[in-house]
Amino acid sequence: MTLLADSPHSDFDLAVIGAGLAGTGLAASLRQAGFDGTILLLEAGRGPGGRAASRRRRDDLLWRLDHGAPCFSFSQPPKGRLAELWNPLLEKGIVQPDRGIVVGLNETGCLVDPPDHPLLQGPRFRGVPTMASVPEALLQAAGSKTHGVFGERISGLSRENGWWCFSGQHRARSLVVTGNLLAHPRSLAMLGWRDVPLRSAVPLNVDPFLDAALEQIAEMRASVRWNLMLEFPRCADHLPRQIWLTSEAQETFGIERIVLHRQQDQKLGLVVHGLDDGSPITPDSQPGLLVSQELRQRKALTELLLPWPELAQALPLARSLGVMRWGASQPLDYPLPTSLQWCGPSAVGFCGDWIAGPGFGMAEGALQSAVDLAAQLTE
Ligand SMILES: Cc1cc2nc3c(=O)[nH]c(=O)nc-3n(C[C@H](O)[C@H](O)[C@H](O)COP(=O)(O)OP(=O)(O)OC[C@H]3O[C@@H](n4cnc5c(N)ncnc54)[C@H](O)[C@@H]3O)c2cc1C
Repeated sequence: MTLLADSPHSDFDLAVIGAGLAGTGLAASLRQAGFDGTILLLEAGRGPGGRAASRRRRDDLLWRLDHGAPCFSFSQPPKGRLAELWNPLLEKGIVQPDRGIVVGLNETGCLVDPPDHPLLQGPRFRGVPTMASVPEALLQAAGSKTHGVFGERISGLSRENGWWCFSGQHRARSLVVTGNLLAHPRSLAMLGWRDVPLRSAVPLNVDPFLDAALEQIAEMRASVRWNLMLEFPRCADHLPRQIWLTSEAQETFGIERIVLHRQQDQKLGLVVHGLDDGSPITPDSQPGLLVSQELRQRKALTELLLPWPELAQALPLARSLGVMRWGASQPLDYPLPTSLQWCGPSAVGFCGDWIAGPGFGMAEGALQSAVDLAAQLTE
């Protein structure tokens, strides 16, 4: 990372916490709108991507597994500023229409039509070569005055003399938070934090917009997925990309869908999107939950893969690559309205797929919130 000189800190015009689609999309969209200031992107993960990241492996350099979102879903073809951000990615071949076959599976293990789910209703795209290629390209489009710091989870925030200050030496005039980890009480139990970082940085009654936003965020429920990743030996072509369970089958098996990702060497990556059973997730309970999810999901696969005999036969040989917990700020009931996306008095804003608009809870919502906020910040 390049540090800016002339200060004991490294000072930025804007800090963005999170380099998923929303964070990288915001940085790229700000540049398209003519924003020339310095941007600091702070991301807990090892690279850009968030829930649209692709898993790599040290022991197999060609391996890339889309272990979160397997595609970018839109409710309608991108329009306006969203199209301005998206279309160059299409033109460069970094995204392509997703032509992967989607099938449905019912509770008796029979193939049926895929369920009527918002993620499957409109146009779908796929990152090339992987989903992570898109946030990577957006980060690149954000230009050389954007600096990324990866592998550091921000747990403490403070606001001092008009500056947002973070652990380490960085500070920024304005802050955008993607994901709502720093604003939602769920982080307290899950991460063992003592208080909600944004609330302790800006006390109650200082910024009425932020007070209203934090109140609404606290009412949101989070949805959790436990994604089991498996490596299968070489498998035949003509396999579907996504196997969606019907709602009855989801209830029976505790699984939403199965995603297949063919590798360059024809091996197959398989990701089971496991549903949460509501057990409390804490730093102490998580290791046990990961183990029980893996056992449960592997058992369910013995039934669910029967329509694909080659996969069912290869299952005992499939190598486990572990379970990934996605603690999503995916909104279920209460998206944050765009009117509360920017809280002027404390110079803090929100971005992500949990902000109101068509496409919330999916890639479209993350990117739409990014272009909307970029417009608000530059107009
Ligand atoms: C299993 C799964 C399947 C999905 N399937 C689909 C699909 O089929 N189609 C579709 O369109 N969408 C799908 N989605 C949703 C899609 O992935 C998201 O809508 C989109 O990726 C959200 O982007 P975002 O930037 O808003 O959030 P995120 O990708 O969650 O990005 C937020 C980033 O902020 C970082 N962060 C948060 N707090 C901190 C902190 N304190 N310090 C540092 N970094 C922090 C996180 O590490 C993360 O990288 C799926 C999601 C999941 C989990």
